[in-house]
Amino acid sequence: MNLEDIATVKSILSQPQKIVIIPHKNPDGDAIGSCLGLYCFLKSLKQEVSVIAPNDYPKFLKWMPKNEVVLNFEKENSQAKKRLEEATVIFTLDFNDLSRTGQLEAILKDKQADFIMIDHHQQPKDYARVTYSDVSMSSTCEMVYNFIEYLGGLDKIDASIATNLYTGIMTDTGSFKYRSTSSRTHKVVSDLIDRGADNMEIHRQVFDTNSPSRLHLLGVALSNMVILQEYKTAYITLSQDELDANNFKKGDTEGFVNYGLTLEGIVFAVIFIENKEEGIIKISFRSVGDFSVNEFARKHFNGGGHDNAAGGRSDTNMETTIENFNEILKTYKSKLNP
Ligand code: 5GP
Ligand code: MN
Repeated sequence: MNLEDIATVKSILSQPQKIVIIPHKNPDGDAIGSCLGLYCFLKSLKQEVSVIAPNDYPKFLKWMPKNEVVLNFEKENSQAKKRLEEATVIFTLDFNDLSRTGQLEAILKDKQADFIMIDHHQQPKDYARVTYSDVSMSSTCEMVYNFIEYLGGLDKIDASIATNLYTGIMTDTGSFKYRSTSSRTHKVVSDLIDRGADNMEIHRQVFDTNSPSRLHLLGVALSNMVILQEYKTAYITLSQDELDANNFKKGDTEGFVNYGLTLEGIVFAVIFIENKEEGIIKISFRSVGDFSVNEFARKHFNGGGHDNAAGGRSDTNMETTIENFNEILKTYKSKLNP
């Protein structure tokens, strides 16, 4: 954030405001962690603050400190709408295009308020009064830590803020192993532990709460995996029937896509998950090295994200989606075999 933006934010927060914080649709650990970390910080400044999530999120994120304040726009619609109407400041966290907020988009694009974006995704849109965008960052949670530091507020970081920010950094870096994990990330995380984040407990809460049906679904996913050695690609499909047969709950497929990348020689991994209710196939893309899944998702599947982790969707059925994917893949043969 530059000095001018820091001054703008300081001046906004020097007045009492009605603040709403918003993560992207289908929020992940970084989205919820950054919103709740910022929520706790702004509350410590005596501001009036709400968090509104576009829709529900998995149980493995619902233990986080202050989770109970999050309003679900789909379920608590009238209350959420009221907070939005009253809002004077809107923080948008862990996304950079209002289209990532689902049904909230229609309200946000006409809303008069000071928008502040904090985000690390590529190609940010220009909708905010203050845009703090840095694609080199491990996570939005690391940026919220920086944001607090810019405002001279590090001493306000208590165990609740530290736990929320630690969780998002941990989930977005694959437990501190992805390329965006810097020495600075480790310094931030070290400080968060000193300020009360219980790292072992956080890891346990997020990763060691499997249900038997999730593990059975993982078994189905792994047996459905197709490996295309000549494209250094592995992909998984999960149909709605397979999800239903395994008692699917939101979040159960989290992390499945990464298994493809654990195969020797594979640099591109994809999972296609059917969602009959929305009439789409939701797709997650992951890569190692220089193959940009952000570009791939943006160009072919109406999505985007980061160089090594992106998402997208297809509006055709699974069979057609896979046929298309295989056709598209042919045009990437040299990029996948540099
Ligand atoms: P995931 O595959 O875990 O849903 O998402 C991976 C990354 O891509 C995340 O940073 C997420 O925010 C982003 N992402 C997921 N789906 C979409 C999408 O449909 N559009 C865009 N622009 N980004 C997405
Ligand atoms: Mn993120």
